[in-house]
Amino acid sequence: MIGVSLHDGADITGFRAAVRRLWASRTPPDQVSWNLSAEPDLFGESAAKDAQPVVLPRVLAELIGLVVCHSDTERYALLYQAVWRVSCGEHRLLEVASDPLVHRLETMAKSVRRDIHKMHAFVRFREVGDSHGGDPDGCDPDGGDSDGGERFVAWFEPQHHILEAVSEFFVERFRSMAWSILTPRGSLHWDRTRLIVGPPARREDAPAEDGFEAGWRVYYENVFNPARLNPRAMRQHMPAKYWRNLPEAAAIPNLIRESPRRLRTMLEREAAQPTKRDPLKAVAAMAQQGPRTLEELNRLIAASPPLTPGADRAVLGEGPIGAAIAFVGEQPGDHEDREGRPFVGPAGQVLDKALAEAGIDRAQTYLTNAVKHFKYEPRGKKRLHKRPNPGEVKRYRWWLHKELAFVRPHLVVALGNTALLGLTGEPLSVLKSRGPLSLAGFPGYATVHPSYLLRLPDEAGREAAYRQFSDDLRRAQALAIDAAAAA
Ligand code: URA
Repeated sequence: MIGVSLHDGADITGFRAAVRRLWASRTPPDQVSWNLSAEPDLFGESAAKDAQPVVLPRVLAELIGLVVCHSDTERYALLYQAVWRVSCGEHRLLEVASDPLVHRLETMAKSVRRDIHKMHAFVRFREVGDSHGGDPDGCDPDGGDSDGGERFVAWFEPQHHILEAVSEFFVERFRSMAWSILTPRGSLHWDRTRLIVGPPARREDAPAEDGFEAGWRVYYENVFNPARLNPRAMRQHMPAKYWRNLPEAAAIPNLIRESPRRLRTMLEREAAQPTKRDPLKAVAAMAQQGPRTLEELNRLIAASPPLTPGADRAVLGEGPIGAAIAFVGEQPGDHEDREGRPFVGPAGQVLDKALAEAGIDRAQTYLTNAVKHFKYEPRGKKRLHKRPNPGEVKRYRWWLHKELAFVRPHLVVALGNTALLGLTGEPLSVLKSRGPLSLAGFPGYATVHPSYLLRLPDEAGREAAYRQFSDDLRRAQALAIDAAAAA
């Protein structure tokens, strides 16, 4: 019998090393005893270094990635059985849904997926002072979150070992906040630049109810629409076991009880004044549950620090909801940053001229940028434009896609490579992709950025490129008209 000792968490690295070692010696599953421990010995990992990697079908590798997160202590033994059978020739094992092993593994994977989904949806942060829940060891050699900013701490009880699996989601979503997520299975700490995975925590380590939470509940009560009350659906989407950790859940019974009266009142007072709320608290609350309107999204963007180094002010999109065309540029320039409006500098003038020639009314279009802040390099009194790098563009993608989902244009036009990257997530060249294509789920069109035309060195080349650009806008206009007619 061979003993394998792995971390009692989602120990994918340890499991892979064990598989290499076990397969190299052709050890069958019934000859392996799997032990889970907080401090596994690393003997297995070093012994596996010389063993050949085991090549597995992609579906099995993905299944392993999920099932190692499951809390079932038999998970590694079951996975090794699957690896063994596939490696011994049952290449299509995972297609046999009636096989008891496959059925069990698929059920486990489904449960992990559900747990991840619930954690994405039900983590609720509470605001704490600087001293609370920072560095997991209680002392941070770098001084950690010493900028005196706000910190947010959440307590959550996942069913499985999913902490690392969800970490990217929370970093992407709350990049500009300093936060910790504490759970009985481990903790995550983000200080706006670094993610640290820490040890398990206790419920008492998380802050008790505070002013932020009260603000959250007020916010929830304010946005609660009694006309839409459906308690069964609420329970379905927010299972009762998560309620005790959700500040808004405390408000639910009362809201349900009060719903008929609130509905009557709501219908009676059309001209009511909106409740006054602390704007910062409302913004933090919106960041958690996601903005529900373009206005809320814009408040969130305006209140967030830049995700590129440069100007603090965010230049928001401009134009009507349901615009025929949404134009997406790269980032605001010096003029745009000063005026707080997109496309008002030299590139904007080129765009305005071409729009007018194509018969497009700028006021009826929506203009925005892939990156909302001006990235620049100071040079004396000047601020020289610096192109945002792909990582920076990616960080702004969530905002851009949400924004377009609220605007719902008939056509999206990408102006240049950065816009294309923000819209598709792919490093496409606009010169190669020029023309119609789907962008962020909308009919789209790719063309060059107007400042490209300004940079061309010779007059004749500039004129030819401008003609092509203005033809593109005409074509885009025709496509937008077709899309509007088909809608
Ligand atoms: N260039 C852009 O991409 N956007 C602007 O708003 C201005 C210049």
